[in-house]
Amino acid sequence: VETFTTVAALRHFLRQEGGDAGVGFVPTMGALHEGHRALVRAARRESRLVVASVFVNPLQFGPGEDFERYPRDLPRDAALLAEEGVDALFAPGVAELVPESQETYVDVPSMSQELEGRVRPGHFRGVATIVTKLFHIVAPERAYFGQKDWQQAMLVHRLVRDLAFPITLRVMPTVRADDGLAESSRNAYLDAASRQRATILYRSLVAGERVLARGVRRRAEVEAVMAATLAEEPTFTADYAVVRSAYGLKAEEQVTGDVALLVAGRLAGTHLIDNFVLRVEPDGVRPARDAGGWTFTV
Ligand code: AMP
Repeated sequence: VETFTTVAALRHFLRQEGGDAGVGFVPTMGALHEGHRALVRAARRESRLVVASVFVNPLQFGPGEDFERYPRDLPRDAALLAEEGVDALFAPGVAELVPESQETYVDVPSMSQELEGRVRPGHFRGVATIVTKLFHIVAPERAYFGQKDWQQAMLVHRLVRDLAFPITLRVMPTVRADDGLAESSRNAYLDAASRQRATILYRSLVAGERVLARGVRRRAEVEAVMAATLAEEPTFTADYAVVRSAYGLKAEEQVTGDVALLVAGRLAGTHLIDNFVLRVEPDGVRPARDAGGWTFTV
């Protein structure tokens, strides 16, 4: 995989190699795992030229968060991307993407104030600003995001639409370990005992799905079951356990149609999130999408 650290060098490469090739783009913060690999594989299947980026975005970390200690291992990331046949890796330093004088920001208020946005003020403004910047630099035809960060994916959806980016957004299902824990770069912070306890997020989502499968449709009742499950793990501090409409993230009285069950909290100092996106119909509940994930076109 060819690695580029400057915008100019990547643009030069894309002008040479891009031509009419639709570029598939996978933005990441590195410390790559099986979840990232699934995005890269989808991009490889669907695009002639695949670009991945590794950039630990300082704008999306709040004061006191883990920006400094966030896991970084570029040689290992490059090896994984090479293994998956990625054409170009964009790995700029902070100064290359965030000039000290930066004063222009992108905000998507309807998506950035609630849930993760409430727990992490400024987080989504940082995400939206850097994603916009990366979209301008890479100019992909398709961009790949993970269901794992569902609120982020819905924010990017809105951003692509509002700013008229000619980009198809692909959202791929969450990749999990055998015990259900969603793969995450932050799992590296957890020791063996905490790693095991972290499955509480998955277990609370399963509990929520189960009450829906039993026919319960009152949102408050489903959320109460999810919260009660999270409370079974005393070392876990819950931030939220909610049911929202899947794409607008609105709280409705009754749970019906495509919905997202979203949970988040802290375990041993590590911020963890997870979600299920389900299709709730009168006669049953199933995942809203199969392994192919979601395609959002503008
Ligand atoms: P990150 O490096 O954590 O910023 O994630 C980069 C991209 O990978 C985002 O679109 C994430 O949603 C996605 N991602 C992270 N973990 C997973 C996972 N377990 N399954 C699928 N996608 C994931």
